[in-house]
Amino acid sequence: MIVVLFGAPGVGKGTQAVILAQKLGIAHLSTGDAFRAAIKNQTEVGLLAKGYVDAGDLVPDDVVARIVEEAMNGQEFASGCILDGFPRTRAQANALQALLAAKGTAVDRVVNLEVDDETIINRLLQRGRADDQEDIIRNRLSVYNAETAPLLEYYSNLGLLTSVDGIGEVEDVSSRILAVLK
Ligand code: ADP
Repeated sequence: MIVVLFGAPGVGKGTQAVILAQKLGIAHLSTGDAFRAAIKNQTEVGLLAKGYVDAGDLVPDDVVARIVEEAMNGQEFASGCILDGFPRTRAQANALQALLAAKGTAVDRVVNLEVDDETIINRLLQRGRADDQEDIIRNRLSVYNAETAPLLEYYSNLGLLTSVDGIGEVEDVSSRILAVLK
């Protein structure tokens, strides 16, 4: 099963993806985590990504493609995966479609976690990651609205999209998502 966990920064994709991957027994790919690891290890991709991640801008699609392809060729992805933070642009959605088609598979479901902007900003300010300062958070939200939110219509037209309320206890949100995937 290939599931895309979709939503603005701070809606809880990362938290939910870890729980879902465990419950469903499939792999989890967070492009944000992959970039942070690459930056920490000063790999070539990490050096290319750093300025964008620090500023809250999107990493260019060709750099994203490199990290995703490498991860999805790993053994653990054979039985499926939860995609967290990818795709974020229409070009990335096309690349994902092509990558999966080459493996004879496709996205099964896109789950859109919905949380209002005020709650998002409060959550991220509490988390306090290096890119969780208010001006950078606001930039990430506006980049999301401009570049990523249009994918909602794309996946909705494909009949793949379900929206889930992302407000409430972590376990309650997980249950709502699992109900969609049953
Ligand atoms: P959040 O969802 O809170 O923004 P992530 O950990 O998913 O956090 O992403 C952190 C940063 O990594 C993003 O602001 C962006 O710079 C980069 N990034 C992650 N995934 C992608 C992607 N699919 N395309 C472009 N940039 C990405």
